[in-house]
Amino acid sequence: MSKVPFVTKEKVDEIVKKYPTPFHIYDEKGIRDNARAVKEAFAWNPGFKEYFAVKATPNPCLIQILREYGCGCDCSSMTELMLSKAMDVPGSDIMFSSNDTPAEEYAYAAKIGAIINLDDITHIDFVEKILGKLPETMSCRFNPGGVFQMSNGIMDNPGDAKYGFTTEQMFEGYRILKEKGVKNFGIHAFLASNTVTNEYYPMLAKQLFELAVKLEKETGADIKFINLSGGVGIPYKPDQEPNDIRAIGEGVRKVYEEILVPAGMGDIAIYTEMGRFMMGPYGQLVTTAIHEKHTHKEYIGVDACAVNLMRPAMYGAYHHITVLGKEDAVCDHKYDVTGSLCENNDKFAVDRMLPEIEMGDYLVIHDTGAHGYAMGYNYNGKLKSAELLLKENGSVELIRRAETPKDYFATLDCLPIYDKIEF
Ligand SMILES: *Cc1c(COP(=O)(O)O)cnc(C)c1O
Repeated sequence: MSKVPFVTKEKVDEIVKKYPTPFHIYDEKGIRDNARAVKEAFAWNPGFKEYFAVKATPNPCLIQILREYGCGCDCSSMTELMLSKAMDVPGSDIMFSSNDTPAEEYAYAAKIGAIINLDDITHIDFVEKILGKLPETMSCRFNPGGVFQMSNGIMDNPGDAKYGFTTEQMFEGYRILKEKGVKNFGIHAFLASNTVTNEYYPMLAKQLFELAVKLEKETGADIKFINLSGGVGIPYKPDQEPNDIRAIGEGVRKVYEEILVPAGMGDIAIYTEMGRFMMGPYGQLVTTAIHEKHTHKEYIGVDACAVNLMRPAMYGAYHHITVLGKEDAVCDHKYDVTGSLCENNDKFAVDRMLPEIEMGDYLVIHDTGAHGYAMGYNYNGKLKSAELLLKENGSVELIRRAETPKDYFATLDCLPIYDKIEF
């Protein structure tokens, strides 16, 4: 599949008059169509809820769109909980799937009525001590260890991951929670990341459903929901086949009917905590070519850098690039596309075949809608970009302004620096 940007050169020419590059821009129509498809794919399960992983794209204007399709919020930190609360998301629509959790975050999660998803068996006592009494509804994160392998060779390595309870601990944990008065139970697991295959959720669901049947039988815990968490991937590369959420929903329904229904557990709600799948393809980083450099390689320097999008530097992740206005030109130039950090891994692309790039060309870096802006940082004194929303009617709205030097220096209150800086 070819990757087509949702903005044109003409549109960006218009946008930059008000909002200079670099910026992340999000596609409202894409977000809505996808959220609707997710809702429909799981409509067979009356209790279904997608708790959007706030960490992927922590912008309330975007999360508010998802709320219209029944999505809740999956939070992993205090500020994500605060954001969800400030958006008037009710506690039952907030999942707190954290790990290595500070006491005050558990306290706040309980105060706002969020569902607490424990990452470890020792957290049972930890939370009880903080709250005095455990909430009536609790979930535990499961990690069976080993490797999680799918038929197309895609795999991940839960045995190496810091998260979750072992199988034994799940049984022990549920017994303890039940003794301590917990009434409603959930199971959660996140065993593979960015899976571009329709098989992942159904395979995971099968494992969790089988575990649920055993857990209920052996501990008497009343299991109300099973949370398939995140991990549903997107095709970052143009030759990858995108996931079909309808096929995924059907696959989960099939194992639900094979395992849970015959066990008399056909009223269990399915939850998900997708981040990447909900937003990833619907965000793009737009940046301008500002330098070309011909040394041992051919370099194009752009006005964005790894602080705007860390995935290529951090994971060597592929992000497709389109040169606006040259969508149909032949890709006969090999470039490294770099940012300005004093770090040689600050490259959006290495040895990438692209059309000839001229200074002032706009480059669209695709699939930055999740884990894009959100992973930003301030190294080299770089400032975070703006976030824009391309609305369904074609207008563009600023949904987060760019940082300014004032923001950058604002935390230096130990020295009289702030007052001396010439803004
Ligand atoms: C990161 C994360 C998610 C979202 O993962 P995606 O790969 O973006 O779907 C969901 N749940 C938890 C607990 C996470 O840490």
